[in-house]
Amino acid sequence: MMASTKHKRKEVLKNCSLCGKAGVLSFEHLPPRCAFNNTAILVQGHEELIDKESSTYGKFRRSQRGFGKYALCESCNNNTGNWYVNDFCKFTKQGMANLKANTHPQYFQGDFAIKPQNVIKQILLMFTVADSSGVISNLPGVREYLLDRRSMKFPEGIRIYAYSNASVQKRMIGYCVVYDPRYGFCRWSEINFRPFGYFFTYQSPPPNNLMADITGFSLVSYDREVSLKLKTAYLNVENMVIGHYSNVKFVDEE
Ligand SMILES: [Zn+2]
Repeated sequence: MMASTKHKRKEVLKNCSLCGKAGVLSFEHLPPRCAFNNTAILVQGHEELIDKESSTYGKFRRSQRGFGKYALCESCNNNTGNWYVNDFCKFTKQGMANLKANTHPQYFQGDFAIKPQNVIKQILLMFTVADSSGVISNLPGVREYLLDRRSMKFPEGIRIYAYSNASVQKRMIGYCVVYDPRYGFCRWSEINFRPFGYFFTYQSPPPNNLMADITGFSLVSYDREVSLKLKTAYLNVENMVIGHYSNVKFVDEE
């Protein structure tokens, strides 16, 4: 990206991360603004982490808009905004209240009254937005599942996990193939915020057995609210290495 255009607000004509059609893309907040992503934040991207020639190498960059990227066309942005965002934010706010009330250092357990299908669809949508390569939205069934709010056909081979998280360090790591000595090549993606981090796997195991598999949220009809208990391990994110947590080293390597 050219430095001169980096900070300009301009119309971006590209393929929508969800429907795949070319159009003017709108800025998608990750997570949505109502899920505690409405203030300026400090971010580290490629230039700050990898590009030693960059004047900002090793520093944080201030983003006035919060975390996010240009990803969805206007139609997808409006539809998914109306269908999923509000319920994802309710889930996040309940999670935040539970996180603040929690006293156990290793996990938290909380009661939720949520619409699980709406929540899991928003989370999968965030993974398609984070994935600049477009691999996730092209996996069999992903587009159909997200573009039809009532569809309960969660795409085969995908699992989504959640963990509790309060780390300052943020990961927004799009789909990647990672070699893990324990499992071989893994197809993973990870996004972390407060109060939850989310982990995506495709035909691969998760990086540890402490994360809560929340794929089952997709078994509840769209818009149906249920009460449930969720227990999630507290995982500490301190670097940009996908699946790595400073407090769970070697936990399941025995
Ligand atoms: Zn679209």
